[in-house]
Amino acid sequence: MVNPVPVYRGRLAPSPTGYLHLGHARTFWTAQERARTAGGALVLRNDDLDVARCRPEFAAAMLEDLRWFGFHWDEGPDIGGAGAPYAQSARHELYRAAFATLRAIGLIYPCSCSRRDVQEATAAPHEHGDEALYPSTCRPENLPPDENRRRSCWPRPGVNWRFRVPNGDTIAFADGRLGEQRAVAGRHFGDFLVWRRDDLPSYQLACVVDDAAMRITEVVRGADLIMSTFRQLLLYRALRLAPPAFYHCPLLTDAAGQRLAKRHDALALRTLRDQGLTPDGIRASWA
Ligand code: GLU
Repeated sequence: MVNPVPVYRGRLAPSPTGYLHLGHARTFWTAQERARTAGGALVLRNDDLDVARCRPEFAAAMLEDLRWFGFHWDEGPDIGGAGAPYAQSARHELYRAAFATLRAIGLIYPCSCSRRDVQEATAAPHEHGDEALYPSTCRPENLPPDENRRRSCWPRPGVNWRFRVPNGDTIAFADGRLGEQRAVAGRHFGDFLVWRRDDLPSYQLACVVDDAAMRITEVVRGADLIMSTFRQLLLYRALRLAPPAFYHCPLLTDAAGQRLAKRHDALALRTLRDQGLTPDGIRASWA
């Protein structure tokens, strides 16, 4: 039997922690264009993982703003689909299963360091906007045996869990826009969180589990997430999942060179709409 030609499946994955701004619109538009050009499907996922920061009114505004701008999706929280549910807050069983797999194969370990501990212990500069390189304090080989024994029965909640990256290995992928990308594990990025002490999966873990389960064939997102892509590729490998292709978009900056994400107040899509701007007019300004 001949394998069917894989159908392009793209996604929009906003987090409802605020109103969507021009930067989101630009990246998402590229995602939609690439799905359309390929004759594929577009999935909308509500990345409402962080219960403390996500708000239902932002999730509702997100749908409204996306529709106003001219986005059309084939599957999503409002219309359902084969990959349902499309809100991360309803997908915790899947994340817990992935956590159990990673724990069973010994690729994660509990970490009692606070974010402050990590920042203070890290002298090496890290990529702008990326997290500090974890100094491996809680790696089992750096702890006394009795402490490791004590930790071996630690439960999932109540403590952070980190993925052990293969130090020195080069991770590479061919970006759809930027070409070959490489990073060295342990140098450009370190052991990263997969589960948080407040009993939530990390963005990295949830993103991989969902993109795989939703059979996404290409992830289109901002270039600020390139370092995350290397981490996620390690999770795909560990979980024996086929990774999608990646396409990282340039980030929009304002006249002063500041990233738009930092000032979504002024450039929220609904603010622009209230000022009388139209989606066509906004898109024309990108050309
Ligand atoms: N919800 C994530 C964000 O808004 C998704 C990032 C991604 O596209 O992987 O940053």
